[in-house]
Amino acid sequence: EACAKVIDGKAVANRIRDEIRAEVSRMKEAIGVTPGLAVILVGDRKDSATYVCNKKKACDSVGIISLEANLSEDSTEQEVLNYISDFNNDPSVHGILVQLPLPKHMNEQNILNAVRIEKDVNGFHPLNIGCLAMRGREPMFVPCTPKGCIELLHRYGIPIKGKKAVVIGRSNIVGIPVALLLQREDATVSIVHSRTINPEKITRQADIIISAVGQPNMVRENWIKPGAVIIDVGINPVEDSNSPRGYRMVGDVCYEEASIVASAVTPVPGGVGPMTIAMLLKNTLISAKRIHNFE
Ligand code: NDP
Repeated sequence: EACAKVIDGKAVANRIRDEIRAEVSRMKEAIGVTPGLAVILVGDRKDSATYVCNKKKACDSVGIISLEANLSEDSTEQEVLNYISDFNNDPSVHGILVQLPLPKHMNEQNILNAVRIEKDVNGFHPLNIGCLAMRGREPMFVPCTPKGCIELLHRYGIPIKGKKAVVIGRSNIVGIPVALLLQREDATVSIVHSRTINPEKITRQADIIISAVGQPNMVRENWIKPGAVIIDVGINPVEDSNSPRGYRMVGDVCYEEASIVASAVTPVPGGVGPMTIAMLLKNTLISAKRIHNFE
């Protein structure tokens, strides 16, 4: 039967939001500055629109001001760059987020590189990732989803130092930065990806598995060492005739099996997802504090 502890990302994220709300109002009272986040959404992808809407609501809930730039699918790269430039120079904006993916005709690299690193709350600027990868360097910002994964481990008192961690997936936004963070926390880290032969042999050695793949129920019982801790980043729609929408979201990990073998596991939804948004709010607060020299 299920014996793994459920890592409740929603509850942790709510606590973090409370902390941020208190800090935002303390800052406002002390120096009259309210943190501001600008979100740029290009095109009409439903999922992206939903993410942006959730981020705005989250800002409202803690007192962060959010600005939105909505551009149509056929707008030009230059138009996006113009918005970025305006937000870069706007003193009321402390964080700039470009919702990915961008339309195919745009060069993602040009656009992400244009965000001032002091306002790069997503942490996707190559200078931020570069500092994350280097010993003795501190990035201005750590990407939100990876930071949320590590924060969950910390808040549940799960030790990382000296542990063997395996990350499944090597994307720029999750897999690579989360592996770098685990390494900074003194774990011994392996990364497996779509070209890895017998990935389950490698994951089975892990004390901590972080999966960011995008394949429903890929990680089965035989991938997991008994007692391992599992952080499931995947958000994958699967058909479900019982749901009013006709589908529901599941992770990369077969939750029923993991909850028997593992010692702790994040649910989907309610695990990493809410943490990602909480970390975005946190990065925006950190940025406003740094820009205004407020401790
Ligand atoms: P990408 O598609 O960018 O990357 C997926 C990675 O998984 C790639 O490195 C790929 O390998 C690897 N992969 C694919 N198939 C396999 C396989 N069969 N075995 C091993 N590795 C495989 O995805 P993202 O990193 O952007 O996102 C991953 C998942 O996390 C998605 O479900 C996404 O929805 C979710 N997500 C959730 C967030 C949250 O807030 N909870 C935030 C961001 C993403 P290769 O490099 O060889 O192609």
